[in-house]
Amino acid sequence: MKITITKTTAPKEKPTGTLNFGRNFTDHMFIMNYTEGTGWHDARIVPYGDLSFSPACAALHYGQETFEGMKAYRGKDGCWLFRPEMNARRSNLSNRRVCIPEIPEADYLEAVQTLVNLDIDWIPDAPDSSLYIRPFFFADDPFVGVAVSKTYQFIIIMSPAGAYFGAFEPVSIFVEDEYVRAVRGGTGRAKTGGNYAASLAALSRAKENGCAQAMWLDGIERKYVEEVGTMNIFFKIDGKIVTPALNESILAGITRDSILTLSRDFGLAVEERAISIDELVAASEAGKLEEAFGTGTACVVAPVNRFLYKGREIFVGDGKTEGATCRRLYETLIAIQRGDAEDKFNWRVRV
Ligand SMILES: *Cc1c(COP(=O)(O)O)cnc(C)c1O
Repeated sequence: MKITITKTTAPKEKPTGTLNFGRNFTDHMFIMNYTEGTGWHDARIVPYGDLSFSPACAALHYGQETFEGMKAYRGKDGCWLFRPEMNARRSNLSNRRVCIPEIPEADYLEAVQTLVNLDIDWIPDAPDSSLYIRPFFFADDPFVGVAVSKTYQFIIIMSPAGAYFGAFEPVSIFVEDEYVRAVRGGTGRAKTGGNYAASLAALSRAKENGCAQAMWLDGIERKYVEEVGTMNIFFKIDGKIVTPALNESILAGITRDSILTLSRDFGLAVEERAISIDELVAASEAGKLEEAFGTGTACVVAPVNRFLYKGREIFVGDGKTEGATCRRLYETLIAIQRGDAEDKFNWRVRV
């Protein structure tokens, strides 16, 4: 793929001190257009800046868009991406669901590599920090009518980021028992904007109740645990690592897959299955809900010390500190991501 590069003539100051997630962006961005009949064309890197499009832009009205989240890490031996081919593959899966044209995985990866290379000095080196990469697609037909768009843009922007929830501090989670995130046959498996618009009311409710995030229950019985905000959820119950089995309404996280692989590699018993909220209540009361943690690219691993369900508290472990297993998984995973540990599973890709 031919990528035209126009470098900025006014490089920005790099942020210092605490890096707020998703607020500062690097000097450049990648853009590519799609036109029906021509396909993807005009791959280019240009200075980061505002876009201009018609107020009738299709994505603004009907939400035909998808996105990804991935990271570049700086380690002692250089800079790395983590399993980027999984993001390229999932991006096409999301695109198929909302009728956005796919892009060859190799082109997607080349776009990411070229942009990260150009802005490589923006990858921070403080512990727990990284460069968050946000590729996204949106329909830009200037047409107000519900239809599959004929034109699209594929854009990648990047943002230096510190720890997502602050430093590995356990968080409280609100169990949402009214709204649902996704149902079978819906778009829950795709990373598409509408899913997140639909989640905000629950997030507000969680915050009003002093919690960091909302945990979703299944859309039919509001009984089985699905996931949390933008994270998959894991529990350690009576010595076993347990996470909801993937179904059509759960986003298949790359961190989830990596944590499952590491857990098995540690020799832990692992179960992917349906987990009801009643099982969690009972396990907590019996002192067997040993650990709980969310997983996702942004936070990597986020320990949970308490759930709030219908006004009732479900404590995890001692209700205060994070569990030893989740800390070990977190430390192992970030060591692999930053190039500080052996890459047994071939997950790292050099920038
Ligand atoms: C992105 C996302 C995740 C986590 O996926 P990763 O690939 O691990 O970053 C989990 N749930 C939802 C709803 C998400 O959007």
